Amino acid sequence: VTTCEHGLPAEFCPKCGKGQAPNLVKDGWCEEHNQPEATCPQCKAKATEEPEEPTKRKESGEGKEQAEKKADIRPLSIVKLKRPGLAGKIGLKTAPATEERHAHQLRGNAEAAYNASRYAEVRPRIAGFAREVKVEAGDEVRRGQVLAVIDSAEVGSAKAQYITAAAEVALAEATHKRTTTLVQKDALPGKNQLEAETAVNRSRAGLMDAEQRLRNLGLADPELARVRETRDTMSLLNVVSPIDGTVVVRKAVAGEAVEATTPLFAVADTSLMWAWIDLSERDASLVAKGQPVTFTVAGTDGDGYAGKVTWVGTEVNPQTRTTRVRAELKNHDGKLRANQFGRADIQVEDEHTSLLVPKTAVQDFERARLVFLAQDDGSYRPQRVMTRPASRSDVVEVTWGLKPGQRVVTTRSYLLKTELMRDALGAGCTDD
Ligand SMILES: [Zn+2]
Ligand SMILES: [Zn+2]
Ligand SMILES: [Zn+2]
Repeated sequence: VTTCEHGLPAEFCPKCGKGQAPNLVKDGWCEEHNQPEATCPQCKAKATEEPEEPTKRKESGEGKEQAEKKADIRPLSIVKLKRPGLAGKIGLKTAPATEERHAHQLRGNAEAAYNASRYAEVRPRIAGFAREVKVEAGDEVRRGQVLAVIDSAEVGSAKAQYITAAAEVALAEATHKRTTTLVQKDALPGKNQLEAETAVNRSRAGLMDAEQRLRNLGLADPELARVRETRDTMSLLNVVSPIDGTVVVRKAVAGEAVEATTPLFAVADTSLMWAWIDLSERDASLVAKGQPVTFTVAGTDGDGYAGKVTWVGTEVNPQTRTTRVRAELKNHDGKLRANQFGRADIQVEDEHTSLLVPKTAVQDFERARLVFLAQDDGSYRPQRVMTRPASRSDVVEVTWGLKPGQRVVTTRSYLLKTELMRDALGAGCTDD
């Protein structure tokens, strides 16, 4: 094919070529409102309106305005090639529009993180010395398992206070019981009973204080019972894991002094990890809780880690203009690590079947998009279509304007568009 001075196949160039008489096409498109005619709400509304009197219409100038608007749009016409065989020469290829089962996915940069609801930092809650450290980083631990033993005089005194308080309650209750009996027999005046009741209440309050102090150190009911029964006043405190998981941080060193708030360990349940996903505002608006997610670690082509969206951010980052989305991922092989970078693919809709055509088949034309349909006589009929992006970047989904089996020009359709533009300029006016 010879290329003309305008950089196009010579027989296609609107400036070099000869004009054709336009063969106008009706494709069911409302040009006035730029959407499918059958469902155009403005046209429907107009049809049900009271017919206006012609004079009134003229005065408002509405009719004239619309006529002008319509005239702005270049009409569509059948495109005929000058010679048979030219299509092959200039590289026009066609393929039947076919339906495909597919899902719509969004992609965003993502970072793996520990699941914050299954992550715990472990602190001694009391100042003292680390007497013993029982676990290493990487160890699997169960909830309640002893991670370290802290030696703290404060623990001993708290236990002693608790044992004393428990004894005081027992004594006050016994006194109260005896006093009640004696008062009932009139062996004691009534005010003695009142005093005994006050003593019981006071001792119980003291026991609650002492008990709370031990609970604050992490002692639960079984340990409290054991302390009472064995009269244990040792200064040792077990530091236990609050959850099932893996020791991911171990800072405790035997023999070192610790403060109440010193982090000794972090335990994480790494079987369910989080991914923080950054999405554009537009993409984020399509994401909802429960949608399937696949996280792929950067630099790997593995199957990735499957999960679900658990939270969609409520704000846009003013710097990056992105919104954060959180997903929960099954760490099926245990190899997903916190802070790993990767990409996340979110399936934003259920799988469905519809027509997909190559992106190269679709051309922008006069505010709308169109494809060219190959006719049996070798000509091409432009057809406006409604499209939406598909997950694969090489295709678009056609939601209106195309039927399965229709033959669509899939390559070099811009050459046909060029021809359409020439026709639109008016036959003959480009003849030199
Ligand atoms: Zn030219
Ligand atoms: Zn309309
Ligand atoms: Zn679709």
